[in-house]
Amino acid sequence: MTPPAPRAAYIHVPFCHRRCGYCNFTVLAGHDERIDDYLRALEIELRGLGTPRPVDTLFIGGGTPTRLPLPHWARLLDLVARWFPLRPGGEWTVEGNPEDVSFERVSVAVERGVTRWSLGVQSFLPWKRGFLEREHTGETIDRAIESCRQSGAQVAVDLIFALPDETASDWHSDLDQLLARPVQHVSTYSLTLEKGTAFWSRWYKGLLQPLEEDRQAELYLATRRRLRAAGFQHYEISNFALPGCRCRHNETYWLCGQYDAAGPGAARFVGGVREVNHRSTTTWMRRLFAGDSPVAERETIGAELAARERLIFGLRRLEGIDVREFEEATGFRLDALAGPAIDEFLAAGFLEQSGTTLRLSEPGILVSDTLWPALLG
Ligand code: SF4
Repeated sequence: MTPPAPRAAYIHVPFCHRRCGYCNFTVLAGHDERIDDYLRALEIELRGLGTPRPVDTLFIGGGTPTRLPLPHWARLLDLVARWFPLRPGGEWTVEGNPEDVSFERVSVAVERGVTRWSLGVQSFLPWKRGFLEREHTGETIDRAIESCRQSGAQVAVDLIFALPDETASDWHSDLDQLLARPVQHVSTYSLTLEKGTAFWSRWYKGLLQPLEEDRQAELYLATRRRLRAAGFQHYEISNFALPGCRCRHNETYWLCGQYDAAGPGAARFVGGVREVNHRSTTTWMRRLFAGDSPVAERETIGAELAARERLIFGLRRLEGIDVREFEEATGFRLDALAGPAIDEFLAAGFLEQSGTTLRLSEPGILVSDTLWPALLG
């Protein structure tokens, strides 16, 4: 039986001005001359769908999608809307760096159906942006937020905390400035040092010290306290939204739904099979121009692994999982799948159960990354 088509799609745009020191995403930095080739390759990949696939959510991420000059920007949006037309009431998010998000660019997007902007603000404090090697200013942040607001699009903001030497007062100042602006969704990430990045090399040479874990935890708890007091729902470990403003696209990932994808390094999950495209933009383009598949990895997700992933992603959502629903949907009894680990985490106070709902406790949120390996089996 053919599985139903996915109702969500992700498009990856790899271009960036230069690679920031902490970034290990699929990025093509300083090569804007490849934008035309990228769009031609993307069109070939999308044509491979055969027929347009209507979706409920679309997400164009990067890299920096807004790096594309305006005519290319319009071409990208038209191309995506042609192959993944948005159903009525759908959500269409685009990521942008504040320095590129002009009123004109937002209008071009909103005219084509974009409903939501995810802005890579990272910090309202100049010293933090400088440390993170980001190029936008306080003025460009405000221009970007105002352009989105005027066009009627929702505004989501990403912030990074726990930089080396960051004080509680730095982070509270970031939160103050955030809460003074018309923002409906906030994602907060602590600075992580990923292998292969410039920051990782600096750490390896002893030139960069991450913030101590207990200070990181303090900042995280302050975020949770302040954003909830301001009316945001803490709905996923790193995500907060005003009521009705959750990111529906990301919820598809966390609820283990199906999603389509295109672009270098993009991952799709359709019919129980997970595929990832070549991460190198050059390889991805070369293969598409030669008529070859852009897929680099393909893995069939068996029923047990699918159940375990559903458990972990379900627990990342702070509402947790309904055990009965989980067992019906996966065909696995939770105690057979992960009983001893769950009992241990309940006893340690990292998980809590009320009725048929199992969820992370506040102490559990703080150590969640250490819990997942035991649940993966
Ligand atoms: S702008 Fe974003 S995607 Fe581009 S290099 Fe910096 S962190 Fe990575």
